[in-house]
Amino acid sequence: MGKIRLLPDVVASQVAAGEVVERPSSLVKELVENSLDAGASRIWIEHACGGSRFISVRDDGCGMDREDALLCLERHATSKIRTGSDLARVRSMGFRGEALPSIASVSRFRLTTREASSDAGTEVIVSGGKVESVREIGAPAGTRIEVRDLFYNLPARRKFLRGEETESAHIVHSLQGIALASPSVAFECRRDGCTVAALPRAESLAVRIRDLFGNGHLAKLVEIDMFEGEGFRLAGFLARSGHGRRDRLQQFVILNGRPIHCPAVQQSLREAYSGVLQRGEHPICVLHVEMDLDLVDCNVHPAKREVRLRQPETIRRAVFDAARRALIRPRQHLERIPEPVRIAAAFVPEPPQGVIPLQQESPAARPEAPGKAPQADRFRFMGMVGDGYLVLEGDEGLVLLDSRAASERILFEFLMRQIVEGTAPSQRLLIPAVVEMPSREHAWVVDHLDDLRAAGFHLEPFGGATLKIEGIPASAAEREPGRLLHEIASTLRAAGKLPRGQDIREALARSVSRLAAADKIAGDQAGARRLVGELLRCELPYASPSGRPTMIQFSFSELDRKFGRAT
Ligand code: ADP
Ligand code: MG
Repeated sequence: MGKIRLLPDVVASQVAAGEVVERPSSLVKELVENSLDAGASRIWIEHACGGSRFISVRDDGCGMDREDALLCLERHATSKIRTGSDLARVRSMGFRGEALPSIASVSRFRLTTREASSDAGTEVIVSGGKVESVREIGAPAGTRIEVRDLFYNLPARRKFLRGEETESAHIVHSLQGIALASPSVAFECRRDGCTVAALPRAESLAVRIRDLFGNGHLAKLVEIDMFEGEGFRLAGFLARSGHGRRDRLQQFVILNGRPIHCPAVQQSLREAYSGVLQRGEHPICVLHVEMDLDLVDCNVHPAKREVRLRQPETIRRAVFDAARRALIRPRQHLERIPEPVRIAAAFVPEPPQGVIPLQQESPAARPEAPGKAPQADRFRFMGMVGDGYLVLEGDEGLVLLDSRAASERILFEFLMRQIVEGTAPSQRLLIPAVVEMPSREHAWVVDHLDDLRAAGFHLEPFGGATLKIEGIPASAAEREPGRLLHEIASTLRAAGKLPRGQDIREALARSVSRLAAADKIAGDQAGARRLVGELLRCELPYASPSGRPTMIQFSFSELDRKFGRAT
């Protein structure tokens, strides 16, 4: 029985026409989405030469009868929506009815399909949009689409294809997103004859992440508390502090089962992780957002990569809060690979009791230390080892604390608060220092006098390549003024252009606290207690501003396990 019918013209024009086949990866994405819509539980994907020579997507989904196999190649033929108003409630991945005809019009195309209930399958061969043959054929239940010589009839488009490596990387990345969106579907991906991923059906997102990227990657993530709001749900995994990348390739945002590019999420991640990642780094994540269909419009981008959110603020806020909670989770020392089934639980250590969860705050607010009671007395100071590592005993286990990273965190948050309030204390020099600087650093300083002043530097250009230093940040008062300024200017100048006014101040705070922390190592009981107390009052106590851990915890149960004691 035919499942496909032609859309009325009105609807066809509501479904904005667009270029679906941007590059081989977009084509792979369309085909795999069709397989998912067809209810597949296994999907086999193959490509050769970056996809320009050969792409094949096979599934064990519902298949098509002969009539549908022909009809699906007509423009705006879809089985997924019937009226214009259906468009507002699309649950399926596809709905435009454009992908197959578009693909078939720019390639040598072969469709083989069989419904499970039917004995014979159908094969349709199309070249450049022209149907060349239709015949009955033996085929496994499901659908296979093979696309050869993409853009063979459009030399101009073919020229725009990038190198094979680049196109392959796009394909693999797009498949990663889809695999993370549908953990319950098995995927097998081959490239130029070699298997690059064989993902069995996974019972949880954690297992899919592990199968896809390995345990090491999973250990960099923390499972967020599921957030449920009005018509909206957020779940998934977010980076622990320090686990970012220069690109956003490991930021996966999946909305209603569809990997999307979502500026609102990117923005709140940027805000939430400011101060725990290196500048220019983006936190890795796999986020699943479920949203009521009337809160989101999927039909704004021809490849459905972007969506329009009716209430971006909801998602922004939820992501920000989730990230902040994820960041206050302490880092566990993970030495054993947990069993797959228990992964999710094992990777979500609760914060030690002394840490009170963050208060709600708006994403726009700058970090402020919430009024937490100092809980340093939960930790007993056992001694110091190496170059400033404190050994502490807590209620749940042994804690190693890097006093340098801890001081950096404390100074950084202190300084950021001061900078935001415009009151960063400055240590006036009794005798102003006149220093000479290399011309590039000098120019950088002169360009940033206001920002430097906000951080506690009082400076005046003093002719030529010299500067007069009248005050330096109080927290770095032990530093030699000229050296301090020089180190900061050269680090920040070398780091390149900074996007916004706020970021330069944050970078300054980070630099100053790094240099100043080196002078502050606590070695005795009172000093250690003070340091731990101050650290626990910080908003993000578990990482230095550049993302290094401040504490590593070995739980007693882990020690028991390691020593082979029965539990
Ligand atoms: P859309 O997905 O937007 O409906 P497509 O051009 O991608 O448009 O596909 C057209 C129709 O072909 C789909 O609506 C579906 O009925 C059918 N189809 C495509 N791929 C498959 C598949 N792998 N298995 C079963 N049916 C398919
Ligand atoms: Mg489709």
